Amino acid sequence: MLELNNVEVTYSDVILALKGVSMNVKEGQCVALLGGNGAGKSTTLKAISGTLKSEDGTVSAGSIILDGTPVQNMEASNVVKNGLVHVMEGRRVLRHLTSEQNLIVGGHMVPNAAELKKRLDHVYTLMPRLADLRNRTSGFMSGGEQQLLLIGRAMMAKPKIIAIDEPSLGLAPMMIRDVYEVLKQLKSEGTTFFLVEQNSAAALSIADYAYVMENGRIVMDGPADKLANNEDIKEFYLGVT
Ligand code: ATP
Repeated sequence: MLELNNVEVTYSDVILALKGVSMNVKEGQCVALLGGNGAGKSTTLKAISGTLKSEDGTVSAGSIILDGTPVQNMEASNVVKNGLVHVMEGRRVLRHLTSEQNLIVGGHMVPNAAELKKRLDHVYTLMPRLADLRNRTSGFMSGGEQQLLLIGRAMMAKPKIIAIDEPSLGLAPMMIRDVYEVLKQLKSEGTTFFLVEQNSAAALSIADYAYVMENGRIVMDGPADKLANNEDIKEFYLGVT
């Protein structure tokens, strides 16, 4: 479904942020990308979703293949058309719009009203809290509710794959559990995930396979259950002791 082959990313023609990254995400899988601050996780996501350009970044070598199509350096809107939605770090809801209006924006490519309603109903079934808050101005929702809204907004585009950046960032443990419960449900419905996290425990609870990144390189990879139980990895790469 998604394949990175020896990807290099350069910012401003000088800073080499990714130094030959290769990864593979199979259909229906959840693949996690773990690592500390500045390792290159967000850069990897941006390279995949076509959003590097606004930061003067470019894929300077290698290829990114999404469902058979090369997407390296493709316009972000075209990557979405090819089936990948990027849920960015930092709760980028449209703050002045209501929760439901945010969802409708996410479904702007939906061809007809009946299909739009079907997708909204699906979001509300999975996240009843969003149904309760449908008329709430999204900027006034809590961090966790905004994270759920962003997941809902991604669902509205019915993507083949959701690439999501740090969904647990800044959330209380109970809210992290709720967000991951929703991700698990979506996964059980067949959605493919590429999940970027510093919270390795949360990520490994849902992932099938994981990569660990350090300094722009993959330093380790393996089935999630194996990584979760590897003492060296816990200590050196995942910050768990
Ligand atoms: P974090 O979890 O802190 O976001 P990360 O693993 O996502 O970390 P990146 O944000 O991808 O890491 O950063 C990887 C490297 O690229 C870092 O050395 C960072 O300083 C550099 N970098 C990121 N964005 C830019 C930019 N717009 N211009 C120049 N360098 C950048």
